[in-house]
Amino acid sequence: MHRIESLARTALPEMTDDLRTLVELETPSNDKELLTAGLAAIEAWTRRRLGPPDERRHHDGGPHGDMLELLYRGTAPATVLVLCHYDTVWPAGTLADWPFQVTEDGRASGPGAFDMKCGLVQAVWALRLLRELDLPRPAVRLFLNGDEEIGSPVSRPHVERLSEDAAATLVCEAAAGPEGALKTSRKGGGIFELTVDGVEAHAGLEPERGASAVHALAELVTQVVASADPALGTTVNVGVISGGTGRNVVAGQARCGIDVRIAVPAETARIDAAFAALRPSDPRVTVTLTGGWARPPMVPNPASSRLFKEALTIAADLGWTARETAVGGASDGNFVAALGRPVLDGLGAVGDGAHARHEHVLPAHMPSRTALIAGLLAGCAG
Ligand SMILES: [Zn+2]
Repeated sequence: MHRIESLARTALPEMTDDLRTLVELETPSNDKELLTAGLAAIEAWTRRRLGPPDERRHHDGGPHGDMLELLYRGTAPATVLVLCHYDTVWPAGTLADWPFQVTEDGRASGPGAFDMKCGLVQAVWALRLLRELDLPRPAVRLFLNGDEEIGSPVSRPHVERLSEDAAATLVCEAAAGPEGALKTSRKGGGIFELTVDGVEAHAGLEPERGASAVHALAELVTQVVASADPALGTTVNVGVISGGTGRNVVAGQARCGIDVRIAVPAETARIDAAFAALRPSDPRVTVTLTGGWARPPMVPNPASSRLFKEALTIAADLGWTARETAVGGASDGNFVAALGRPVLDGLGAVGDGAHARHEHVLPAHMPSRTALIAGLLAGCAG
């Protein structure tokens, strides 16, 4: 993979230009029009870099971003699934006050550069260079989805279907921390909303006729938060709360939004039971829970551990030490890991600041990460 790395180093100005091209396409998860235009431009870019794919499937995303499945045949029968999402958390117009730029200290910044357009650039270049050198390689199925940042509601079944017969799934989400660690464990999570209905009444004239939804919710929030188990990695955050109509009204309704993160799959059942057991002390108050689990936790399985070991060997050969880490955020890799299939995540950018204004990429690492992806692909051709 030394040759891939040195070719990528020579091509770094072009790769950085590609990153600029992709970042300058605004693709917020909630803007169908921009997502559609962005995906068309990304597809045109893949054709410039890889030529036409051998198979192409376009999937309607409904209200969310459409999905594109591009298959490039290799020299070996195996297929590797490469997962990249093209949506970002940044709203339309962000580029106007935060244009793509490469600063003198060697950072490339712009909305979505780190999460995860740089990963897409590296994946496409890894395949391009493998083909240029005519090295053994598997078929590569590049999957581009546009709803990852909102939990992949539409793309999830596609990810599950496409990873079924894949020798490996490589997720080109950004690497973690200053060392650019690969992600072998991720928390899963759920998003819930608790709605409490009480009985409205005048707070002065006849408070006894009322049943306060606000008071009940205050009791319930402490029960919700008590269901956390930090030792197991289960955290529960009540992030928003609202209710009531006036200071002198016994509140008829109140609600709160809950974010749950879990590291252990069995915790979904325990949390479900805890939430189902929520009871306000006033029997006139009713409780409704909506929402649910968005992604299962990513727990290493033997096949995934083998993939990471291979990454260790490739990186060592390239002269650096690959590290692995567990992170709190979930990705599409979680779906694949939960099915017991081999997956390695964090193969994208080295940098920092996902979902934050200091989001940036260190382009100096792009050649070695591209070579790592190429090495993992080549490893599946044997
Ligand atoms: Zn991402």
